[in-house]
Amino acid sequence: MPIQEAEKIWKNGKFIPWSEANTHIMTQGLHYGSAAWDGARAYDTKHKGTCIFRNRDHVERLFFSASVYRIPIDPSIEEVMQISKDVVRENKLSSAYIRPLAYMDYGEIGPAMPTNPHSLCVIAFPFGSYLGADGMANGVDVCVSSWRRPPSGTIPMGAKVSGNYLSSRLISMEAKERGFAEGIALAHDGTLSEGAGANLFVVKNGRLLTPTTANSILEGITRDTIITLAGELGIEVVEQPLPREILYSADEIFMTGTAAEVTPIRSVDKIQVGDGNRPVTTAIEKAFFGLMSGETEDKWGWLDPVE
Ligand code: PMP
Repeated sequence: MPIQEAEKIWKNGKFIPWSEANTHIMTQGLHYGSAAWDGARAYDTKHKGTCIFRNRDHVERLFFSASVYRIPIDPSIEEVMQISKDVVRENKLSSAYIRPLAYMDYGEIGPAMPTNPHSLCVIAFPFGSYLGADGMANGVDVCVSSWRRPPSGTIPMGAKVSGNYLSSRLISMEAKERGFAEGIALAHDGTLSEGAGANLFVVKNGRLLTPTTANSILEGITRDTIITLAGELGIEVVEQPLPREILYSADEIFMTGTAAEVTPIRSVDKIQVGDGNRPVTTAIEKAFFGLMSGETEDKWGWLDPVE
């Protein structure tokens, strides 16, 4: 999906033109992957104007990810939340994808170098649906990837850092080369993990099943949203290690993420999911998008107005 450029990017305390948000070729984060980021969405809601969805949770996760790799962030959590809103407003965006990026900058060479300078950028730009409008409506065809996610104790998948997306690149490229929209990765032990950029949910006999945080997943904020909304709908949710074969006997499967939102899966490895009906996925989608239209009450204060 081509990036739709916005006008300005916030970098280290000031707004600069999009085209001038550059960095030196010896930037440490570029060579060693020492960059933490997050991705939030601002929605043009019907009842509260433009709001960042779960702004605090995204910024808190950015600070967590950065702290795992000791990447300093100078502003506070509250300040980064405010900067995110300012970037949306400054670019006159009614809806947007928001990408804060904290990285180790140009200094000494080597992977550690904790005293190198560091930078923070916050970027916002217009963004449609990650797997396409057709995929959202009709479901996508996915495969199980031959690539596995690394276990905790190697490169932790629970921290959202640039380097982790090498794993996602392998999963996603392989899937696309084989003609699928996306790939589902297994954890190191062969249990299900997640998609290249989204969490996984399986519906089986009316229950909603999803891998645990110990199965090499990113603890998605949309995942948590769906678990909460499912509880409101009276749907039982079970977080547990899931065997691969459940994909081939599931009633419904969907993926969740800030970019993917709630995307139904139509087939896995060319095997149709269930009978093609998706009552649980549809109810979850309705509850999720209802937050943005006001039809679902935001009991949790998840919508953070930018004005
Ligand atoms: N897993 C991975 C690897 C991701 O990149 C994402 C997207 N951030 C997710 C899961 C979903 O996370 P969230 O719902 O917080 O966007």
